[in-house]
Amino acid sequence: MSQLTAHIIPRDEHPVSRKNISPSALKVMYRLENAGFKAFLVGGAVRDMLLGIQPKDFDIATNAHPEQVHKLFSNSRLIGRRFKLVHILFGREIIEVATFRSSGEQLQNDQGMLVRDNVYGDIEEDVVRRDFTANALYYSATDFAIYDYVDALKDIENRQLKLIGIPEERYREDPVRMLRAVRFAAKLDFAIETQAEEKITELAHLMQMVAPARLFDEIIKLFVSGKGGRIYQYLKHHKLFDSLFPHVADTLRNNAQSAYYDAFITAGLVNTDKRIQVDKPVTPAFMYAVLLWPEVHRIWQQKISEGTSEFPAMQQAGYEATQAQLPFIMITKRFLLMMKEIWEMQLRLTKNNERRAKQLIHNPRFRAGYDFLLLREQAGEQLEGLGEWWTHFQESNPVPKSSTKSRTGKERFRPRRPANKAGKRPRS
Ligand code: ATP
Ligand code: MG
Repeated sequence: MSQLTAHIIPRDEHPVSRKNISPSALKVMYRLENAGFKAFLVGGAVRDMLLGIQPKDFDIATNAHPEQVHKLFSNSRLIGRRFKLVHILFGREIIEVATFRSSGEQLQNDQGMLVRDNVYGDIEEDVVRRDFTANALYYSATDFAIYDYVDALKDIENRQLKLIGIPEERYREDPVRMLRAVRFAAKLDFAIETQAEEKITELAHLMQMVAPARLFDEIIKLFVSGKGGRIYQYLKHHKLFDSLFPHVADTLRNNAQSAYYDAFITAGLVNTDKRIQVDKPVTPAFMYAVLLWPEVHRIWQQKISEGTSEFPAMQQAGYEATQAQLPFIMITKRFLLMMKEIWEMQLRLTKNNERRAKQLIHNPRFRAGYDFLLLREQAGEQLEGLGEWWTHFQESNPVPKSSTKSRTGKERFRPRRPANKAGKRPRS
């Protein structure tokens, strides 16, 4: 049926070693194989190991159907509707198992967008529905060989991000691939192949067809990648930012304070990158509070100039800015509330008399509000040394860590990480 043939790279000709693979992922592959199915490690994990990066999660591709996988693992659950997958849970680690898919015209709507993706196929069909060649390598835990159907190794060596197939078609099928291109280019320091790069600017508007809930997840992935600062530049350059945050983009272009706003977002994202580097938690609420600040600040100032007093002006500005953004990207209620608190904290922090300050530093949103304030000053906003005042105040009034803990404790957000416990590793 298919003319694709695999270039098989045996174990002694590649550096992918079992000692870098999560024991849970190996367990899943072995059990599938023992049950008579095929199973491969695929996607980012193989790519990352070839690049000498420790993978953050492990995806498996198999010819077993999701229900069959689910039956084999009591610790699994079936997920997804448009795209059925099985998640196998090992403590906090999740191994994602996907059945080989085939792609075809019958799965698309009249605009070329994929609407159904549950037609199963064989590995040769599965290869070509993957996004980039670098993401389409298969590693077998049976013969330890890598199966390369699309000359992926060469592209990885040359640090080239190349779409499989015709870029325009692949972006139309799923516009999120444009965001993935930008994310991988920034994260891996790859160049996007010229045609695939040029098409992004042309098709960036398609991003508005993607479900807001899916974009919520994708945007988080972009900005917790540790390369958020660089990704922001890419997004602007390719007009993706315009498509995702149209109102903010407008303000970034046509406002007397555009330079400040742009510097502020950059500072916020670079700051997040630094936190991730030292393994500090980041919350999407802070990121979104940063990304929407140009709008909040603009509307806030406008309301004040129209005679509204400061606090209600900030409340209204926060409300209007988020309402304008929500049709494009969903933001959960919990995060919306935190964003609002961070913005309103900006006003609370200006009333810096000692007595109030002593109360305020116990507020669960104080720390985020203070970090946010520092970013505003860093980006050039003149606040008459307010940040420094709070820095000194905290030095002379240290707060024990536990007293600023959030009430629920649930708001801390860490990018998912495998529990790759030493000791249980099989020998390679
Ligand atoms: P990372 O996990 O480091 O973000 P990844 O490449 O593993 O990168 P995942 O989102 O975990 O990305 O997806 C696993 C694999 O599934 C990808 O490597 C790719 O082969 C395929 N894939 C994921 N999303 C898409 C998509 N939108 N279009 C086509 N293939 C996709
Ligand atoms: Mg992955």
